[in-house]
Formats: sequence, C-alpha cells, structure tokens
Amino acid sequence: MKFAHVLTCFALAFGLCQTASAQTARVPVVAAENFYGDVIHQLGGDHVQVTSILSNPDQDPHLFEASPKTARALQHAALVVYNGADYDPWMDKLLGASKSNDKRTVIVAAQLVGKKSGDNPHLWYDPATMPTVAKAISAYLASTDPAHKSDYDARLAKFLDSLKPIDASVAQLKARYHGVPVTATEPVFGYMADAIGFEMRNMHFQMAAMNETEPSATDIAAFENDLRERRVHVLIYNSQATEALTKRMLGIAKDAHVPTISVTETLPAGKTYQQWMSSQLDSLSGALQGWQR
Ligand SMILES: [Zn+2]
Repeated sequence: MKFAHVLTCFALAFGLCQTASAQTARVPVVAAENFYGDVIHQLGGDHVQVTSILSNPDQDPHLFEASPKTARALQHAALVVYNGADYDPWMDKLLGASKSNDKRTVIVAAQLVGKKSGDNPHLWYDPATMPTVAKAISAYLASTDPAHKSDYDARLAKFLDSLKPIDASVAQLKARYHGVPVTATEPVFGYMADAIGFEMRNMHFQMAAMNETEPSATDIAAFENDLRERRVHVLIYNSQATEALTKRMLGIAKDAHVPTISVTETLPAGKTYQQWMSSQLDSLSGALQGWQR
C-alpha cells in the first residue's frame, strides 16, 4: 500500500495521472519561443505536451537569460524547437549542457529556411517560414508516434490551410502598397515588410536598436527627418522594446501625423499564430488606408 501511495504522489507531482490512465504518454516538446509552441500544439493536439520558454509579452526576448527552470524543462523533452540565427543563443548553451537525452530531436527554424547568424533573426514574420517548420514538426510527430499519424497529417493540412488568409492579406497589401516607403524602430517586422514589397528605410538605426547599441547621430537625424518630412507613410514599432529613443520617434511621428503600428516579438496571450499575424496585417492595412499613390 505504501508503495502504491508513493507512486500516486509521484504521478501527481509530474501531472502524469491523466495521461497514465489514458495509456498514452504525450510527446514532451519544448519550444524556445511561444509562437513555435502554439504551432506545435496545433499540430499535435492532445498527443503533445508543449512547454514554451519565451512567452512574456512584456519582456524583450533579445535580453532573455535562461534560468535553471528552463534547463530542467529541456531535460525531459523528446523534441526541442528553437529559432536559431543568434536569436536564442542560450538554447545552444542549454542543449550543450544537458547531455541526459541522446534521443532528443532538435528542429532549428533558421537551418530549415537557410538563415544564419547575422541575418535578420525574426524568421517567423516571413510567410515562408512557418509552413516549412510545421512540416518538419509534423513529420517528427508522425515518426515518433506512428499510431496517430493520420491525425498529425490531418492537423498539418488544416494548419497549412489556415495560413491562406494571411497569404491573401500579404498579396492584397502588396498589390496596393508595394514600393511605399515605411520605417521601423527595429527589424522585427522586416521579412513581412519585404514580402509586401515596402521600401524599408533606416536599416542602420534598426540594427543598432536590435543589438542594444546606440544608433549614430546621423542615423537618428535621418530617422527624424523621414518622420518630420513625411517621407515614410507608416512607422512600425516593437511594443516589447520601447526604449527612450523609440518613444521619441513615436512622439515625432504623432506630431507629423505619420501613422504608427505596434508589432510584438512573441505571441500575445490568448491568440494563435494565425490570429496574431492577421491582426497585425489588419492594423497595417488600416494605418495605410488614407494613403494614395
Ligand atoms: Zn527582435
């Protein structure tokens, strides 16, 4: 009796009671960023147990430091998904330090889409990235849990289908606004802006802001002039990294009547990846409504 009691407590402590009674263990997955975590959940449903590391929308992910709690979550993961391209260098360190799991599979988004250190790391804003990452995740799930392959296949098809309205929004924005000069305080939205075909200005400033270095006086003056003289038609800012300089640019944009839209690095609570992307494209569309070629 005593032994059984200990077993029950052990199961409770690890939240395994339900899965144990259902006779199927969930596939433990760790996602470094919550937008990948959301997609994994959509692709795996109840067959996966997803832990996302970066999920606080008030935190600047570029300044994140991994905690011992993060390291523990990784130890039991069968699948680890992270961005790469120097966005989450702490993942390499953590994976190198936790040797316990030889059978762990690691999917790095940057490797799948051919990006490397030094490239803009905000890959999930590229409409081409998530389908590629999703296919790799789904293939892994089907191979590690073949009993549910048909479910994984159906979920992947549904996921890919659900991205079509996003592609349609991008195509619509491209038709109307390609070549329109815009600017941003950080390159977080960069790949989406490229997909739309905007002329993105002040890249020097943006890279400095992302890397937590001070933009040069020339870069700051160029940015301010673009806003004051209304050479740009929208200012895109990262609401997760609002330093003094970002606030200053927002003030100048407001005075000059340049519309602003906020984007976030990580997935806001309560939204799916698709809802997040769609709502940002909608606010962009709204900001540009009064613009005429
Ligand atoms: Zn960023």
